[in-house]
Amino acid sequence: MPIRSKHADVVIPDVDTWTLLFERKNRPFRDDKVIFHDTISPREYTYAHIKGSAIGFGQSLRSSWNWQKGDVLAIYSPNDVDYATIVFGTHWAGGIVTTANPGYTVDELAHQLVDSKAKAIVTQAPLLKTTLAAARKAGVRENRVILIGPDTIDTPVPHYTSLSGYRVYDANQHVPRPYRINPNEDLCFLVYSSGTTGKPKGVMLSHRNIVSNVLMLTRPNEGYLSCGDGTTGSGDRTIGFLPLFHIYGLTGVLHYSLHQGIELFILPTFTLSAFLNLVQTHRITYNNVVPRIILALAKDPSVANYDLSSLKMLVSAAAPLTKDLVDLLYDRLKIPVKQAFGLSETSPGTHQQEWDEWNVGIGSIGRPAPNVETKIVDVGNLSEVDPNEVGELWVRGPNVFKGYLNNEKATREALTSDGWFRTGDVGYVDERGLCFITDRIKELIKFNGFQVAPAELEGLLTSHPTIKDAAVIGVYSKELATELPRAYVVLDGGIDKSSTTADEIATWLSERVAKHKRLRGGVRFINAIPSSATGKILRRELKVLAEKEGEAK
Ligand code: AMP
Repeated sequence: MPIRSKHADVVIPDVDTWTLLFERKNRPFRDDKVIFHDTISPREYTYAHIKGSAIGFGQSLRSSWNWQKGDVLAIYSPNDVDYATIVFGTHWAGGIVTTANPGYTVDELAHQLVDSKAKAIVTQAPLLKTTLAAARKAGVRENRVILIGPDTIDTPVPHYTSLSGYRVYDANQHVPRPYRINPNEDLCFLVYSSGTTGKPKGVMLSHRNIVSNVLMLTRPNEGYLSCGDGTTGSGDRTIGFLPLFHIYGLTGVLHYSLHQGIELFILPTFTLSAFLNLVQTHRITYNNVVPRIILALAKDPSVANYDLSSLKMLVSAAAPLTKDLVDLLYDRLKIPVKQAFGLSETSPGTHQQEWDEWNVGIGSIGRPAPNVETKIVDVGNLSEVDPNEVGELWVRGPNVFKGYLNNEKATREALTSDGWFRTGDVGYVDERGLCFITDRIKELIKFNGFQVAPAELEGLLTSHPTIKDAAVIGVYSKELATELPRAYVVLDGGIDKSSTTADEIATWLSERVAKHKRLRGGVRFINAIPSSATGKILRRELKVLAEKEGEAK
């Protein structure tokens, strides 16, 4: 029997994200509530302003570029208070948004632009050079680059459109939308994930996927998080430092705050001191984080200099969180942590610990969200296993994606004909119904919550002039509370004859990839990559080898 939430299902209205967020009846907060605060410039926006500027941006997409339903706009930018205007303005105009990591190199960005068929790119002035080079490679016209960010406030940027040029509509004025959206069919996001195997692929998320996930995440928070008196100040407040290009930040922070009227303090670059300062100054009440933040809060000496007593809960997701860390933080600061779980393919949330169960089965990802069915499946015979037995986690629900863009094979492998999604994560459910993740059968490596696709690094490494073969795996560093990518490399002519060093290879690769993909777990030379008769890399054998070698580095 599939395992379900403790909560009743939520009713999922047949609407798109715009209608959910901006045409909502009985919204519990006022138009003039400030929802977004910038933390590095004076910009702060009320709900009405966000709505009015999104309509203005959407209108201008239509009038300037004849924007059509299904056209794709790419955002290549760090977190910014104007991110919402771009996302929702594009949705207002019937478009699809693809979000790219602002750390991407020219080639990485160009790949996503081509794959998603992006028609326009939104970026910030410091990223303009990379953006233009990628746009050129991908065939996106140079006049389709729009700048947002603090640099555009005082300095009008020549040649490129800046958001300050757009009209902000009155939020109560009815402006007819150009297209009707079918929430179940029409896409709102293309986020990129390597899925179970191979290189990053476009994950097709429909409006219904996102609408359902926002509402599913809301139910377990009822009675714990609120917008307060609905005007300003008294409700919950959170810091938006999780990257908005990743689904965790996109749904869990951006959409969630706007839907719930929770004040969001946007922080483009995380530093511990900035985070601590913001918590203390704005009396932040809860925050979504990743395990390495828990580590810093539990151990860094500077934490003792701040008053963090306003924090009633931290939610950790995107990578495994150990019981040790939760205990360590609670012992030091008495701040509870609950763990959540999800994937790009599930919009993302599928599990979370309940507020009143954060300390029951610490280390567990908790229970399924409402509307989600889950089961643990024997990977051999695909039957459901008994409680406490380990198998692959499968998920079914309205938040499960529609498939990978232009990749039927990967879609077929990930989704069964009756709607189950194979997560590629391994775990068990105990007799209390709590789910624990113990391993991954997919190749994916996560560095501080960021995806690293081994196939992508292996492809690059084998293009190095002295490398014959390569395999990349993740090795867990307890000290850093994250996995680190490590390469096993076979040199042309063998280890003894080649003068290439491990450092040279690591440096060579770091010049070609975004920072989070660097080989922080080291480079190891090996005589042959273990592989199956069909040529598949036997990563499990490399993991065993890595364990024998000890901790990363
Ligand atoms: P992404 O698509 O980037 O969100 O990555 C999804 C993957 O991150 C999952 O398939 C898991 O392998 C991993 N993940 C996310 N949350 C957790 C968690 N709480 N514990 C363990 N792994 C997690």
